[in-house]
Amino acid sequence: MKDRTRRASCSCARLTVRCRGEPLSVSLCNCQACQRRTGSAFGVAAFFPTASVRLDGDSTVFVRTSDEGREVTFHFCPACGSTVYWFPERKPGIIAVALGAFADPAFPAPGQSVHDEHKHPWYTLAMPS
Ligand SMILES: [Zn+2]
Ligand SMILES: [Zn+2]
Repeated sequence: MKDRTRRASCSCARLTVRCRGEPLSVSLCNCQACQRRTGSAFGVAAFFPTASVRLDGDSTVFVRTSDEGREVTFHFCPACGSTVYWFPERKPGIIAVALGAFADPAFPAPGQSVHDEHKHPWYTLAMPS
């Protein structure tokens, strides 16, 4: 059976990621850095093996240190500013792709929620158990 491919892109569609197969995991993060990165109340990352993705387009890099003290390297579009993917130092060989960049309501839901200490109290999640 042929693996399905999903496409993620920034707002202006210059920076894209093609992901083959299903994500290894999908994780919702309530940390304050994700709130600032997304401009929303939380971020959601879909993790894929780096070998299963194809990256196209120019990106600008922003490196920050996570709450756990490890570096995370974010790639965002220099034209429109959307962060599309990033590489967590603590997960070698794994790329995180911003769930919102797929703009697909049928995308697999997050299997976990982290940094709940920073969660905004006004939302509740319907995640599969
Ligand atoms: Zn763009
Ligand atoms: Zn976060």
